[in-house]
Amino acid sequence: MGVTKQLYELQELDLEIDSQEQALSQTMSQLGESPAVLRVQGQLQSEQERLEELRRKQHSAEWEIEDISTKLAPAEKKLFSGDIKNSKELANLQHEVEMLKAKRNQMEEKALEIMEQVELSETSVAKISSELETLKAEWQRQQQELADSVERLKAILSDLRGKRQLLSAEIPPQVVELYQGLRKERGTAVARVEQGICRGCRISLPTTELQQARSGNLVKCSSCGRILFLA
Ligand SMILES: [Zn+2]
Repeated sequence: MGVTKQLYELQELDLEIDSQEQALSQTMSQLGESPAVLRVQGQLQSEQERLEELRRKQHSAEWEIEDISTKLAPAEKKLFSGDIKNSKELANLQHEVEMLKAKRNQMEEKALEIMEQVELSETSVAKISSELETLKAEWQRQQQELADSVERLKAILSDLRGKRQLLSAEIPPQVVELYQGLRKERGTAVARVEQGICRGCRISLPTTELQQARSGNLVKCSSCGRILFLA
């Protein structure tokens, strides 16, 4: 195999390695936490906190109702016992009983409202939890796929690098060095020649350059400086 063909093949390998490396880093950048999962986790946490707060309010309303009831029972008993003869005292007691009843009604309404809110919040927590489970499962599936891709790409790259090492060992070191320098400078070091035109810069090559290249000599394009390769 002529040295220009070896260099061309080396370049093909390098381009393939570049492309697989890019795919690998792109894949690896997608590994990690999911913004969607984090967002829904945050939603769930704040809804759970709201529910806890509502339950606390519900309990304190219930305690308050119980407290009023324990005061009301003896007051009513006393009121209807017939023991109180003094009309002013009786009126005061009646007033107290009415006040306690009104307060209890008010608290019962409040407790009912809170209970409705608790139920709504419980539904919401259940809905967000199930959404989170779905998102997590999807995310885990994606992460597994990405991890598989990473393994596959690493294997491909290791294979390509092995091939590159074998090929570059066959090429004289100073030529490899020239190739590396051109590649660094211009992106591609070797240009195909098709119909007398350098594919690197699309300029028609002078006859002498074409002849030299055809004979398998290492010739650089006088226009773009790339190594010419005639298939
Ligand atoms: Zn050129």
